[in-house]
Amino acid sequence: MVPQIKYTKLFIDNEWVDAKSGKTFETFNPHDGSVIAKVARGDKEDIDAAVSAAKRAFHRNSEWRLLDASKRGELLNKFADLVARDIAYLAELESYNNGMVLNMAKTFIGTTPATIRYVASLADKIHGDTIPADGEIFSYTLKQPVGVCGLILPWNGPILMFLNKVCTALAAGCTVVVKPAEQTPLTALALGALLKEAGVPKGVVNIVTGFGEDAGVALTHHLDVAKISFTGSLEVGKLIQKAAGTNNLKRVTLELGGKSPLVIMNDADLQQAVPVAAMGVFGLQGQMCIAASRLYVQSGIYDKFVEESVKFAKNLKIGNPADPSTMHGPQVEEVMMNKVLGYIEKGKQEGAKLQTGGKRVGTTGYYIEPTVFSDVTDDMTIAKEEIFGPVQSILKFDTLEEVVDRANATNYGLAAGIFTSNINTALQYSKLVEAGIVWVNTYLAFNPQCPFGGFKESGIGRENGMHCVDEYLEVKTVTIALPKKL
Ligand code: NAD
Repeated sequence: MVPQIKYTKLFIDNEWVDAKSGKTFETFNPHDGSVIAKVARGDKEDIDAAVSAAKRAFHRNSEWRLLDASKRGELLNKFADLVARDIAYLAELESYNNGMVLNMAKTFIGTTPATIRYVASLADKIHGDTIPADGEIFSYTLKQPVGVCGLILPWNGPILMFLNKVCTALAAGCTVVVKPAEQTPLTALALGALLKEAGVPKGVVNIVTGFGEDAGVALTHHLDVAKISFTGSLEVGKLIQKAAGTNNLKRVTLELGGKSPLVIMNDADLQQAVPVAAMGVFGLQGQMCIAASRLYVQSGIYDKFVEESVKFAKNLKIGNPADPSTMHGPQVEEVMMNKVLGYIEKGKQEGAKLQTGGKRVGTTGYYIEPTVFSDVTDDMTIAKEEIFGPVQSILKFDTLEEVVDRANATNYGLAAGIFTSNINTALQYSKLVEAGIVWVNTYLAFNPQCPFGGFKESGIGRENGMHCVDEYLEVKTVTIALPKKL
Protein backbone atom coordinates (compact mmCIF):
# COMPACT_ATOMS: atom_id res chain seq x y z
CA MET A 1 0.00 0.00 0.00
CA VAL A 2 1.25 3.48 -0.88
CA PRO A 3 1.59 5.70 2.20
CA GLN A 4 -0.27 9.00 2.11
CA ILE A 5 1.98 12.04 1.64
CA LYS A 6 0.59 14.59 4.08
CA TYR A 7 3.31 17.26 4.20
CA THR A 8 5.38 18.76 1.38
CA LYS A 9 5.82 22.38 2.50
CA LEU A 10 8.41 24.05 4.71
CA PHE A 11 7.73 23.99 8.45
CA ILE A 12 8.52 27.40 9.97
CA ASP A 13 7.11 28.81 13.22
CA ASN A 14 4.80 25.77 13.45
CA GLU A 15 3.20 26.69 10.10
CA TRP A 16 3.35 24.97 6.71
CA VAL A 17 4.56 27.46 4.10
CA ASP A 18 5.67 27.45 0.47
CA ALA A 19 9.25 28.37 -0.39
CA LYS A 20 9.43 32.14 -0.87
CA SER A 21 10.61 31.54 -4.44
CA GLY A 22 7.61 29.27 -5.03
CA LYS A 23 10.03 26.57 -6.24
CA THR A 24 9.58 22.85 -5.62
CA PHE A 25 11.62 19.73 -6.34
CA GLU A 26 10.64 16.16 -7.07
CA THR A 27 11.28 13.31 -4.70
CA PHE A 28 11.35 9.70 -5.89
CA ASN A 29 10.58 6.10 -5.02
CA PRO A 30 13.89 4.21 -5.46
CA HIS A 31 12.00 1.00 -6.25
CA ASP A 32 10.95 2.24 -9.70
CA GLY A 33 12.24 5.82 -9.98
CA SER A 34 8.71 7.25 -10.04
CA VAL A 35 8.03 10.73 -8.69
CA ILE A 36 6.13 10.49 -5.42
CA ALA A 37 5.80 14.15 -4.46
CA LYS A 38 6.86 17.70 -5.21
CA VAL A 39 8.40 19.30 -2.16
CA ALA A 40 9.07 22.97 -1.39
CA ARG A 41 12.59 23.94 -2.40
CA GLY A 42 13.83 26.24 0.33
CA ASP A 43 16.85 28.47 -0.21
CA LYS A 44 18.65 31.32 1.56
CA GLU A 45 15.52 33.44 2.06
CA ASP A 46 13.67 30.54 3.68
CA ILE A 47 16.67 29.69 5.85
CA ASP A 48 16.70 33.35 6.95
CA ALA A 49 13.01 33.09 7.90
CA ALA A 50 13.54 29.80 9.74
CA VAL A 51 16.58 31.08 11.64
CA SER A 52 14.65 34.24 12.63
CA ALA A 53 11.84 32.06 13.98
CA ALA A 54 14.33 29.90 15.89
CA LYS A 55 16.04 33.03 17.24
CA ARG A 56 12.74 34.47 18.49
CA ALA A 57 11.94 31.15 20.13
CA PHE A 58 15.33 31.29 21.87
CA HIS A 59 14.84 34.78 23.29
CA ARG A 60 15.36 34.86 27.07
CA ASN A 61 11.68 35.40 27.87
CA SER A 62 10.19 33.14 25.19
CA GLU A 63 7.78 30.35 26.13
CA TRP A 64 10.53 27.83 25.37
CA ARG A 65 13.22 29.50 27.48
CA LEU A 66 10.86 29.92 30.42
CA LEU A 67 9.83 26.27 30.36
CA ASP A 68 11.22 24.16 33.20
CA ALA A 69 13.78 21.60 32.08
CA SER A 70 11.57 18.76 33.35
CA LYS A 71 8.76 20.07 31.13
CA ARG A 72 11.07 19.87 28.11
CA GLY A 73 11.52 16.22 29.04
CA GLU A 74 7.75 15.79 29.31
CA LEU A 75 7.26 17.30 25.86
CA LEU A 76 9.78 14.91 24.39
CA ASN A 77 8.06 11.98 26.12
CA LYS A 78 4.77 13.07 24.58
CA PHE A 79 6.50 13.22 21.21
CA ALA A 80 7.81 9.66 21.82
CA ASP A 81 4.19 8.53 22.40
CA LEU A 82 3.15 10.06 19.08
CA VAL A 83 6.06 8.47 17.21
CA ALA A 84 5.09 5.12 18.79
CA ARG A 85 1.47 5.67 17.67
CA ASP A 86 2.56 6.35 14.07
CA ILE A 87 5.39 3.82 13.71
CA ALA A 88 3.71 1.80 10.96
CA TYR A 89 3.07 4.92 8.87
CA LEU A 90 6.53 6.38 9.46
CA ALA A 91 8.19 3.08 8.49
CA GLU A 92 6.13 2.88 5.29
CA LEU A 93 6.98 6.45 4.36
CA GLU A 94 10.68 5.90 5.08
CA SER A 95 10.70 2.76 2.97
CA TYR A 96 8.80 4.49 0.14
CA ASN A 97 11.15 7.49 -0.07
CA ASN A 98 14.46 5.83 0.84
CA GLY A 99 14.15 2.25 -0.41
CA MET A 100 14.78 0.83 3.08
CA VAL A 101 13.34 -2.68 3.31
CA LEU A 102 10.03 -2.22 5.14
CA ASN A 103 10.66 -4.93 7.73
CA MET A 104 13.99 -3.34 8.57
CA ALA A 105 12.43 0.13 8.71
CA LYS A 106 9.85 -1.18 11.18
CA THR A 107 12.58 -2.66 13.35
CA PHE A 108 14.73 0.49 13.31
CA ILE A 109 11.92 2.93 13.81
CA GLY A 110 10.42 0.64 16.44
CA THR A 111 13.44 1.43 18.64
CA THR A 112 13.06 5.20 18.39
CA PRO A 113 10.46 5.88 21.10
CA ALA A 114 12.86 4.36 23.64
CA THR A 115 15.67 6.50 22.25
CA ILE A 116 13.57 9.65 22.52
CA ARG A 117 12.63 8.75 26.10
CA TYR A 118 16.28 8.20 27.00
CA VAL A 119 17.19 11.65 25.68
CA ALA A 120 14.09 13.17 27.33
CA SER A 121 15.31 11.82 30.67
CA LEU A 122 18.50 13.88 30.34
CA ALA A 123 16.70 17.25 30.04
CA ASP A 124 16.51 17.96 33.78
CA LYS A 125 19.89 16.45 34.64
CA ILE A 126 21.91 19.19 33.01
CA HIS A 127 23.88 20.95 35.72
CA GLY A 128 27.28 22.36 36.43
CA ASP A 129 29.75 21.94 39.26
CA THR A 130 30.73 23.80 42.38
CA ILE A 131 34.49 24.25 42.28
CA PRO A 132 37.00 24.52 45.16
CA ALA A 133 39.01 27.16 43.29
CA ASP A 134 42.17 28.75 44.77
CA GLY A 135 41.87 32.04 46.64
CA GLU A 136 39.06 33.87 48.39
CA ILE A 137 36.45 33.07 45.82
CA PHE A 138 33.56 30.75 45.21
CA SER A 139 33.13 29.34 41.70
CA TYR A 140 30.45 27.31 40.02
CA THR A 141 29.54 26.44 36.46
CA LEU A 142 26.27 26.68 34.58
CA LYS A 143 25.54 24.64 31.49
CA GLN A 144 23.42 26.60 29.05
CA PRO A 145 21.97 25.87 25.61
CA VAL A 146 24.25 27.05 22.83
CA GLY A 147 21.44 28.76 20.88
CA VAL A 148 20.02 28.24 17.40
CA CYS A 149 21.33 24.99 15.91
CA GLY A 150 21.43 24.01 12.25
CA LEU A 151 20.90 20.26 11.84
CA ILE A 152 21.86 18.91 8.42
CA LEU A 153 20.71 15.36 7.69
CA PRO A 154 21.75 12.60 5.27
CA TRP A 155 19.40 10.34 3.32
CA ASN A 156 20.47 6.94 4.59
CA GLY A 157 18.67 6.93 7.94
CA PRO A 158 16.42 9.98 7.75
CA ILE A 159 14.19 9.27 10.76
CA LEU A 160 16.97 8.06 13.05
CA MET A 161 19.20 11.02 12.23
CA PHE A 162 16.36 13.52 12.65
CA LEU A 163 15.46 12.13 16.06
CA ASN A 164 19.03 11.87 17.34
CA LYS A 165 19.81 15.45 16.53
CA VAL A 166 16.49 17.20 17.15
CA CYS A 167 15.68 15.48 20.46
CA THR A 168 19.16 16.03 21.87
CA ALA A 169 19.14 19.71 20.90
CA LEU A 170 15.69 20.16 22.45
CA ALA A 171 16.64 18.33 25.64
CA ALA A 172 19.52 20.81 25.94
CA GLY A 173 17.10 23.72 25.50
CA CYS A 174 18.23 24.83 22.03
CA THR A 175 16.03 25.77 19.07
CA VAL A 176 16.68 24.26 15.65
CA VAL A 177 16.51 24.59 11.90
CA VAL A 178 16.59 21.18 10.22
CA LYS A 179 17.75 20.69 6.63
CA PRO A 180 16.82 17.14 5.53
CA ALA A 181 18.64 15.51 2.61
CA GLU A 182 17.11 16.39 -0.77
CA GLN A 183 16.66 12.68 -1.58
CA THR A 184 14.50 11.97 1.49
CA PRO A 185 12.58 15.00 2.73
CA LEU A 186 9.24 13.38 3.62
CA THR A 187 9.71 11.69 6.99
CA ALA A 188 11.34 14.80 8.52
CA LEU A 189 8.21 16.77 7.65
CA ALA A 190 5.98 14.07 9.15
CA LEU A 191 8.03 14.25 12.36
CA GLY A 192 7.68 18.05 12.36
CA ALA A 193 3.91 17.63 12.42
CA LEU A 194 4.21 15.27 15.41
CA LEU A 195 6.40 17.75 17.30
CA LYS A 196 3.73 20.40 16.78
CA GLU A 197 1.05 17.94 17.95
CA ALA A 198 3.15 17.22 21.05
CA GLY A 199 2.99 20.92 21.90
CA VAL A 200 6.47 22.15 21.06
CA PRO A 201 6.15 25.97 20.95
CA LYS A 202 6.37 27.75 17.63
CA GLY A 203 9.80 28.48 16.24
CA VAL A 204 11.53 25.84 18.37
CA VAL A 205 11.72 23.36 15.47
CA ASN A 206 11.80 24.57 11.86
CA ILE A 207 12.33 22.37 8.81
CA VAL A 208 13.58 23.69 5.49
CA THR A 209 13.61 21.12 2.70
CA GLY A 210 15.96 21.89 -0.15
CA PHE A 211 19.41 21.30 -1.55
CA GLY A 212 22.82 21.43 0.09
CA GLU A 213 24.20 23.97 -2.34
CA ASP A 214 21.65 26.64 -1.40
CA ALA A 215 19.67 25.83 1.80
CA GLY A 216 22.59 23.89 3.38
CA VAL A 217 25.19 26.52 2.53
CA ALA A 218 22.92 29.35 3.78
CA LEU A 219 22.47 27.57 7.11
CA THR A 220 26.17 26.91 7.63
CA HIS A 221 27.01 30.57 6.87
CA HIS A 222 24.21 32.16 8.90
CA LEU A 223 25.57 34.42 11.62
CA ASP A 224 22.67 33.74 13.99
CA VAL A 225 23.33 30.00 13.96
CA ALA A 226 25.54 29.02 16.90
CA LYS A 227 26.09 25.40 16.04
CA ILE A 228 25.88 22.95 13.16
CA SER A 229 25.37 19.24 13.67
CA PHE A 230 25.94 17.41 10.41
CA THR A 231 25.79 13.79 9.28
CA GLY A 232 26.94 13.02 5.76
CA SER A 233 30.01 12.77 3.59
CA LEU A 234 33.56 13.65 4.60
CA GLU A 235 33.77 16.09 1.70
CA VAL A 236 30.78 18.15 2.87
CA GLY A 237 31.85 17.79 6.51
CA LYS A 238 35.10 19.57 5.64
CA LEU A 239 33.16 22.35 3.87
CA ILE A 240 31.03 22.80 6.99
CA GLN A 241 34.05 22.97 9.26
CA LYS A 242 35.57 25.55 6.91
CA ALA A 243 32.37 27.63 6.79
CA ALA A 244 32.25 27.62 10.60
CA GLY A 245 35.84 28.83 10.71
CA THR A 246 35.36 31.66 8.25
CA ASN A 247 32.25 33.23 9.80
CA ASN A 248 31.14 33.17 13.46
CA LEU A 249 33.13 30.13 14.60
CA LYS A 250 30.07 27.93 15.00
CA ARG A 251 30.36 24.86 17.16
CA VAL A 252 30.44 21.85 14.86
CA THR A 253 29.56 18.21 15.38
CA LEU A 254 30.31 15.94 12.44
CA GLU A 255 29.27 12.32 11.86
CA LEU A 256 31.00 11.38 8.62
CA GLY A 257 31.98 8.30 6.68
CA GLY A 258 33.88 5.15 7.45
CA LYS A 259 35.82 2.22 6.06
CA SER A 260 35.23 -0.01 9.02
CA PRO A 261 37.36 -3.14 9.55
CA LEU A 262 35.68 -6.30 10.79
CA VAL A 263 38.18 -9.02 11.78
CA ILE A 264 37.35 -12.73 11.85
CA MET A 265 39.86 -14.82 13.79
CA ASN A 266 40.45 -18.53 13.14
CA ASP A 267 38.73 -19.33 16.46
CA ALA A 268 35.52 -17.44 15.62
CA ASP A 269 32.12 -19.08 15.59
CA LEU A 270 31.51 -19.08 11.83
CA GLN A 271 27.79 -19.79 12.05
CA GLN A 272 27.45 -16.56 13.98
CA ALA A 273 30.09 -14.53 12.13
CA VAL A 274 29.10 -15.16 8.50
CA PRO A 275 25.56 -13.70 8.64
CA VAL A 276 26.54 -10.85 10.95
CA ALA A 277 29.48 -9.87 8.73
CA ALA A 278 27.25 -10.06 5.65
CA MET A 279 24.44 -7.94 7.10
CA GLY A 280 27.11 -5.58 8.41
CA VAL A 281 27.72 -4.61 4.80
CA PHE A 282 24.50 -5.60 3.00
CA GLY A 283 22.10 -4.05 5.54
CA LEU A 284 20.43 -0.91 4.13
CA GLN A 285 22.02 -2.01 0.83
CA GLY A 286 25.40 -1.02 2.25
CA GLN A 287 24.32 2.58 2.71
CA MET A 288 25.67 2.78 6.24
CA CYS A 289 28.53 4.88 7.52
CA ILE A 290 29.40 1.98 9.85
CA ALA A 291 29.28 -0.68 7.09
CA ALA A 292 31.77 -3.51 7.64
CA SER A 293 33.35 -2.69 4.31
CA ARG A 294 36.78 -4.22 5.02
CA LEU A 295 36.34 -7.80 6.15
CA TYR A 296 39.67 -9.24 7.35
CA VAL A 297 39.53 -13.03 7.63
CA GLN A 298 42.39 -15.05 9.15
CA SER A 299 44.12 -17.41 6.73
CA GLY A 300 43.09 -20.67 8.49
CA ILE A 301 39.41 -20.13 7.73
CA TYR A 302 39.64 -17.82 4.74
CA ASP A 303 38.44 -20.15 1.97
CA LYS A 304 35.62 -21.58 4.05
CA PHE A 305 34.51 -18.08 5.08
CA VAL A 306 34.44 -16.85 1.48
CA GLU A 307 32.40 -19.90 0.44
CA GLU A 308 29.82 -19.34 3.21
CA SER A 309 29.64 -15.59 2.56
CA VAL A 310 28.90 -16.22 -1.12
CA LYS A 311 26.08 -18.62 -0.17
CA PHE A 312 24.63 -16.03 2.19
CA ALA A 313 24.76 -13.23 -0.40
CA LYS A 314 23.10 -15.41 -3.06
CA ASN A 315 20.22 -16.19 -0.69
CA LEU A 316 19.28 -12.57 0.00
CA LYS A 317 15.91 -12.06 -1.68
CA ILE A 318 16.02 -8.93 -3.82
CA GLY A 319 12.78 -7.04 -4.46
CA ASN A 320 10.35 -4.25 -3.74
CA PRO A 321 11.19 -3.01 -0.22
CA ALA A 322 7.47 -2.85 0.59
CA ASP A 323 7.17 -6.64 0.14
CA PRO A 324 7.47 -8.33 3.58
CA SER A 325 9.62 -11.15 2.16
CA THR A 326 12.22 -8.79 0.65
CA MET A 327 15.67 -8.80 2.22
CA HIS A 328 17.52 -6.54 -0.18
CA GLY A 329 16.09 -3.33 -1.67
CA PRO A 330 17.28 -0.62 -4.05
CA GLN A 331 19.99 2.01 -3.64
CA VAL A 332 18.57 5.42 -2.81
CA GLU A 333 19.03 7.02 -6.25
CA GLU A 334 20.47 6.51 -9.70
CA VAL A 335 23.59 8.59 -9.01
CA MET A 336 24.49 6.45 -5.99
CA MET A 337 23.72 3.23 -7.89
CA ASN A 338 26.07 4.24 -10.69
CA LYS A 339 28.75 5.24 -8.20
CA VAL A 340 28.59 1.80 -6.57
CA LEU A 341 28.64 0.01 -9.95
CA GLY A 342 31.73 2.10 -10.78
CA TYR A 343 33.46 0.80 -7.65
CA ILE A 344 32.57 -2.78 -8.59
CA GLU A 345 34.18 -2.28 -12.03
CA LYS A 346 37.25 -0.82 -10.34
CA GLY A 347 37.45 -3.87 -8.05
CA LYS A 348 37.46 -6.20 -11.06
CA GLN A 349 40.02 -4.10 -12.96
CA GLU A 350 42.38 -3.98 -10.00
CA GLY A 351 42.38 -7.77 -9.64
CA ALA A 352 39.89 -8.58 -6.87
CA LYS A 353 38.05 -11.85 -7.48
CA LEU A 354 34.32 -11.32 -8.06
CA GLN A 355 32.68 -14.26 -6.28
CA THR A 356 29.03 -13.31 -6.76
CA GLY A 357 26.86 -10.35 -7.74
CA GLY A 358 28.38 -7.29 -9.36
CA LYS A 359 25.49 -6.28 -11.60
CA ARG A 360 22.48 -4.03 -11.67
CA VAL A 361 19.19 -5.94 -11.30
CA GLY A 362 16.64 -5.12 -14.00
CA THR A 363 16.33 -1.76 -15.69
CA THR A 364 13.86 0.07 -13.45
CA GLY A 365 14.66 1.09 -9.90
CA TYR A 366 18.17 1.22 -8.50
CA TYR A 367 18.89 -2.37 -7.52
CA ILE A 368 22.37 -3.88 -7.26
CA GLU A 369 23.06 -7.54 -6.51
CA PRO A 370 24.72 -8.22 -3.16
CA THR A 371 28.35 -8.49 -4.27
CA VAL A 372 31.24 -10.44 -2.75
CA PHE A 373 34.89 -9.91 -3.69
CA SER A 374 37.63 -12.15 -2.36
CA ASP A 375 41.41 -11.76 -2.77
CA VAL A 376 41.10 -8.07 -1.99
CA THR A 377 44.31 -6.29 -1.01
CA ASP A 378 44.77 -3.11 1.00
CA ASP A 379 45.97 -1.07 -1.97
CA MET A 380 42.80 -1.64 -4.03
CA THR A 381 40.31 1.21 -4.37
CA ILE A 382 37.48 -0.94 -2.98
CA ALA A 383 39.52 -1.49 0.19
CA LYS A 384 40.32 2.19 0.60
CA GLU A 385 37.31 4.29 -0.39
CA GLU A 386 33.84 4.34 1.09
CA ILE A 387 31.56 2.59 -1.43
CA PHE A 388 28.22 3.05 0.35
CA GLY A 389 26.80 0.03 -1.45
CA PRO A 390 26.29 -3.75 -1.09
CA VAL A 391 29.90 -4.74 -1.72
CA GLN A 392 31.68 -7.13 0.64
CA SER A 393 35.46 -6.98 0.28
CA ILE A 394 37.21 -9.94 1.91
CA LEU A 395 40.91 -9.60 2.75
CA LYS A 396 43.26 -12.22 4.21
CA PHE A 397 45.60 -11.85 7.20
CA ASP A 398 47.82 -14.03 9.39
CA THR A 399 48.43 -12.43 12.79
CA LEU A 400 46.60 -10.10 15.17
CA GLU A 401 49.50 -7.60 15.14
CA GLU A 402 49.40 -7.47 11.36
CA VAL A 403 45.63 -6.98 11.17
CA VAL A 404 45.63 -4.22 13.79
CA ASP A 405 48.11 -2.20 11.74
CA ARG A 406 46.22 -2.85 8.52
CA ALA A 407 42.86 -2.02 10.14
CA ASN A 408 44.28 1.32 11.34
CA ALA A 409 45.85 2.26 8.00
CA THR A 410 42.93 4.50 6.98
CA ASN A 411 41.95 8.12 7.45
CA TYR A 412 38.60 6.94 8.84
CA GLY A 413 37.89 5.67 12.37
CA LEU A 414 34.19 5.14 12.87
CA ALA A 415 33.46 1.49 13.71
CA ALA A 416 35.38 -1.77 14.00
CA GLY A 417 34.56 -5.34 14.93
CA ILE A 418 36.10 -8.67 15.80
CA PHE A 419 34.83 -12.23 16.04
CA THR A 420 36.92 -14.46 18.29
CA SER A 421 36.45 -16.90 21.14
CA ASN A 422 39.58 -15.61 22.89
CA ILE A 423 38.87 -12.80 25.35
CA ASN A 424 42.48 -11.58 25.30
CA THR A 425 42.41 -11.21 21.55
CA ALA A 426 39.13 -9.28 21.81
CA LEU A 427 40.48 -6.96 24.51
CA GLN A 428 43.78 -6.31 22.73
CA TYR A 429 42.09 -5.53 19.44
CA SER A 430 39.47 -3.31 21.11
CA LYS A 431 42.21 -1.31 22.79
CA LEU A 432 44.39 -0.89 19.72
CA VAL A 433 41.94 -0.34 16.89
CA GLU A 434 41.40 3.34 16.05
CA ALA A 435 37.61 3.58 16.02
CA GLY A 436 34.87 5.26 18.02
CA ILE A 437 32.81 2.06 18.28
CA VAL A 438 34.12 -1.51 18.61
CA TRP A 439 31.86 -4.56 18.45
CA VAL A 440 32.99 -7.96 19.73
CA ASN A 441 31.17 -11.06 18.43
CA THR A 442 28.43 -8.79 17.12
CA TYR A 443 28.07 -5.86 14.73
CA LEU A 444 25.61 -2.98 14.31
CA ALA A 445 24.49 -3.33 17.94
CA PHE A 446 23.22 0.10 18.99
CA ASN A 447 21.51 1.56 21.97
CA PRO A 448 20.80 5.10 23.10
CA GLN A 449 22.89 4.74 26.27
CA CYS A 450 26.16 4.29 24.32
CA PRO A 451 28.08 7.14 22.64
CA PHE A 452 28.31 7.03 18.86
CA GLY A 453 30.90 8.86 16.77
CA GLY A 454 34.24 8.60 15.07
CA PHE A 455 38.00 8.94 15.45
CA LYS A 456 40.11 10.68 12.80
CA GLU A 457 38.24 11.86 9.70
CA SER A 458 35.06 10.00 10.68
CA GLY A 459 33.95 12.96 12.69
CA ILE A 460 33.98 15.29 15.64
CA GLY A 461 31.82 14.81 18.74
CA ARG A 462 29.47 12.07 19.85
CA GLU A 463 25.74 11.40 19.62
CA ASN A 464 23.83 9.21 22.11
CA GLY A 465 25.06 8.36 25.59
CA MET A 466 24.51 10.45 28.69
CA HIS A 467 26.89 13.19 27.52
CA CYS A 468 25.17 13.74 24.15
CA VAL A 469 23.51 16.93 25.40
CA ASP A 470 26.94 18.45 26.15
CA GLU A 471 27.38 18.86 22.39
CA TYR A 472 24.54 21.43 22.53
CA LEU A 473 25.65 23.27 25.69
CA GLU A 474 28.07 26.01 26.65
CA VAL A 475 29.79 25.94 30.03
CA LYS A 476 29.74 29.21 31.95
CA THR A 477 32.00 29.75 34.97
CA VAL A 478 30.69 32.10 37.64
CA THR A 479 33.26 33.30 40.19
CA ILE A 480 32.22 35.24 43.28
CA ALA A 481 34.61 37.09 45.55
CA LEU A 482 34.33 36.14 49.22
CA PRO A 483 35.34 38.64 51.92
CA LYS A 484 37.86 36.17 53.36
CA LYS A 485 38.27 32.51 54.10
CA LEU A 486 36.91 31.60 57.51
P1 NAD B 1 26.21 14.57 1.65
O1 NAD B 1 27.33 14.98 2.49
O2 NAD B 1 26.27 14.84 0.20
O3 NAD B 1 24.83 15.25 2.14
C1 NAD B 1 24.43 15.27 3.48
C2 NAD B 1 23.61 16.51 3.73
O4 NAD B 1 24.42 17.67 3.55
C3 NAD B 1 22.40 16.70 2.80
O5 NAD B 1 21.34 17.22 3.57
C4 NAD B 1 22.90 17.73 1.81
O6 NAD B 1 21.87 18.49 1.23
C5 NAD B 1 23.77 18.59 2.68
N1 NAD B 1 24.82 19.33 1.96
C6 NAD B 1 25.44 18.99 0.81
N2 NAD B 1 26.36 19.93 0.48
C7 NAD B 1 26.32 20.87 1.45
C8 NAD B 1 27.04 22.08 1.69
N3 NAD B 1 27.99 22.49 0.86
N4 NAD B 1 26.76 22.79 2.80
C9 NAD B 1 25.82 22.37 3.67
N5 NAD B 1 25.09 21.25 3.48
C10 NAD B 1 25.34 20.50 2.40
O7 NAD B 1 26.08 13.05 2.03
P2 NAD B 1 24.98 11.99 1.57
O8 NAD B 1 25.26 11.67 0.16
O9 NAD B 1 23.64 12.47 1.92
O10 NAD B 1 25.32 10.75 2.56
C11 NAD B 1 26.29 9.82 2.26
C12 NAD B 1 27.53 10.04 3.08
O11 NAD B 1 27.24 10.35 4.44
C13 NAD B 1 28.42 8.85 3.14
O12 NAD B 1 29.73 9.21 2.84
C14 NAD B 1 28.33 8.33 4.58
O13 NAD B 1 29.43 7.69 5.05
C15 NAD B 1 28.02 9.54 5.34
N6 NAD B 1 27.19 9.22 6.53
C16 NAD B 1 27.77 9.23 7.76
C17 NAD B 1 27.02 8.90 8.89
C18 NAD B 1 27.59 8.91 10.27
O14 NAD B 1 26.86 8.81 11.23
N7 NAD B 1 28.88 9.03 10.46
C19 NAD B 1 25.69 8.57 8.75
C20 NAD B 1 25.15 8.58 7.49
C21 NAD B 1 25.91 8.90 6.39
